[in-house]
Amino acid sequence: MSFLNVENKNFLITGVANKKSIAYAVAKTLSDEGANLFFSVQTEAQQAKIQELFPTRPVYLCDVANEDQIKSLGQHLKNDAQEIHGFLHSIAFANFKDGIKPFHETSWEDFAQSSQISLYSLVALSRNLKDVFHPSASVVALSISNTRATNYGYLGPIKAALDSSVAFLSKSFSSFSEVRFNALCAGPLKTTASAGIPGYVKNYLFAEKLTLRKRALTTEEVANAAVFLLSERSSGITASCVVVDAGMSANYFDESVVEKSTL
Ligand code: NAD
Repeated sequence: MSFLNVENKNFLITGVANKKSIAYAVAKTLSDEGANLFFSVQTEAQQAKIQELFPTRPVYLCDVANEDQIKSLGQHLKNDAQEIHGFLHSIAFANFKDGIKPFHETSWEDFAQSSQISLYSLVALSRNLKDVFHPSASVVALSISNTRATNYGYLGPIKAALDSSVAFLSKSFSSFSEVRFNALCAGPLKTTASAGIPGYVKNYLFAEKLTLRKRALTTEEVANAAVFLLSERSSGITASCVVVDAGMSANYFDESVVEKSTL
């Protein structure tokens, strides 16, 4: 038995869009460790791509903006997996097609759509997986390292609500199980979702300068932390927000950055 003990255990992985996705790196590591993976993706194009990457594993379609599709995902997993030991929620969407507007200009339509997909889907999926979860299953939701970083636009407050939701879900599931819910709060990475945030590339390069080691955070580093949180080795951690940011949040006044900006 390996330290993580994920061999032959069942994991639901959401949010694999391509090989750059955080969820892909999590899936790859879990698969290498002998876990059984069950995928849920948003589109048929993703379904075909993931099926190619993991030919022996089931890939279900579930647009989380659609309550019926969430319900049928629960049914599929009941039939095919019977029991799920871990669930990775790696889904977010915000409509930035007109750039980042001043926060007070956020429309209700955009805010509601982003909340449904990026936040409420964790609650809806968890409810529909309730009977499939192993009594001590682990749920991990991808969040951001600083929900007050205003360059994220209105996704910031929605991620803050996601961070809070893991405490509420841990509490509500504790009345009948030991299912754990945690948020993994990652610093900036290079993925398709992040590329959609206006001004992201420059901010990503700036963030690298703010890491204590002066080397950008990698998707694999975030995925490794996710695998640990999904495994039974993190059994004492629940209702928590675990930050993975290579020390960025402790280095706001990095000497070399301060020096350059005060020349
Ligand atoms: P990604 O684009 O690879 O993944 C985002 C996923 O969300 C995609 O697979 C997309 O299909 C899915 N999605 C969007 N709307 C959906 C819907 N209606 N139904 C089902 N799925 C839907 O990018 P990623 O960076 O791997 O993002 C994964 C998670 O990590 C997100 O929650 C993101 O906010 C978070 N995160 C990313 C970074 C970063 O810098 N990339 C940092 C911290 C947190």
